[in-house]
Amino acid sequence: MENARSAEIRRKQRELLFPNVGTYYQEPLALESGKGMFLKDVEGKEYLDFYGGILTVSVGHCNPRVTEAVIAQQKKLVHVSTLYATLPQLELAEKVVQIRPMQETAKAFFTNSGTEANETAVALAKEATGRQELVVLRHNYAGRSTLALSMMGNKNYRPKTQSEVPSIRFAHAPYCYRCDFGLKYPDCGVACAKDLKSLIETTTDGEIGAFMAEPIQGVGGFITPPKEYFEIAVPIARDHGGLFIADEVQTAWGRTGGKWWGVQQYGVEPDIVTSAKGMANGQPIGLTLAKASIADKSKYANISTFGASPISMVAASATLGVIEEEKLLFNAQLMGKALRDGLEGLQQKFQGIGDVRGMGLMQAIELVKDRASKEPDPQGTARLMEAARRRGLLIGKGGLYGNTLRISPPMIVNKGQIDDALRLLGEALAEALPS
Ligand code: PMP
Repeated sequence: MENARSAEIRRKQRELLFPNVGTYYQEPLALESGKGMFLKDVEGKEYLDFYGGILTVSVGHCNPRVTEAVIAQQKKLVHVSTLYATLPQLELAEKVVQIRPMQETAKAFFTNSGTEANETAVALAKEATGRQELVVLRHNYAGRSTLALSMMGNKNYRPKTQSEVPSIRFAHAPYCYRCDFGLKYPDCGVACAKDLKSLIETTTDGEIGAFMAEPIQGVGGFITPPKEYFEIAVPIARDHGGLFIADEVQTAWGRTGGKWWGVQQYGVEPDIVTSAKGMANGQPIGLTLAKASIADKSKYANISTFGASPISMVAASATLGVIEEEKLLFNAQLMGKALRDGLEGLQQKFQGIGDVRGMGLMQAIELVKDRASKEPDPQGTARLMEAARRRGLLIGKGGLYGNTLRISPPMIVNKGQIDDALRLLGEALAEALPS
């Protein structure tokens, strides 16, 4: 039974906010505090957090080092805008340039969100190449601006009355579980990647400004391309004049285990990379990092009022410091393997788990009514979310059909917590899915 405080919060949520502010669960969960791997709701119930506020809390809720950096900066200097130089901005820029995923040196532009980071990247790619046409992937999610909505590869997030940015083409996603060609990897020869050539040559003027893709499609349900995908797709894009923009809003900062960037798992280098989410452990931030030779081609006056906020800059520097000193790239790899093994174990037990996929601490299970037909099971997924919540475990949801669980704990997670989460998930699966 919910208490009076929860009921009041839910009433106000309905009364005061846009009705399309989607929340998880039948009744939104009202959270009040967080520490490390745990969150507490307004009734004092504790939850093990295996979603991290959409892969954003990288180093644990209210991480003391990040919190102290933010408080100290709050007392010193809060805001000046990008019109002035600040040390926090340059210190962070120095760090991200040092760990960049491209060989050539790079330059950074800081904003407040993944959407803005992607806007900046696409504007730069168009300016640098002098070309307008873009190729993105089906199942893509790039944000909530008009450009990002025009690049949306998921009908659930497309407003019906949106005027679109033209010249965007959608390539087949490397979604092996539901292959558009009805093929099986590796016999498929990664046909989805090769199709990029035909897409560009038949539906554009033959030369594009950019090919933009997430190394692992986050909102799409952690769709994880086969290992050769980008080695095939990126040269095709470059042969047709396009830059490769890696949208690492979800996949950067060690999330995929062992490497700073998701794209490094695929042996290709981006021309431009964007990120946000996990970079500052919850402070608003967006990063567009481009090869210096490309960044130098941008000539229009670029300004962001809240971009490079000293608060977000020091939060990000502290977050990256924690990731480095606590060896969280390695931890994400190790714990990711334990999580993956556990999920594969659950797949043996539950027929409803059609697919297990992901990398590092970015793991998903896709739920189906029947393994042969692969009919999606969004109702079972919703029941599973509720059942996990009742047991004190928070996980995320995604995928075009709302039938994929996204499991992405903060990267400080330990083996005991992985085991606890798997046990709670197993109990929730037993309750939510037909046996
Ligand atoms: N790109 C990707 C891959 C994302 O997952 C998201 C957010 N889910 C965005 C861009 C947009 O980021 P934001 O919500 O910070 O604008």
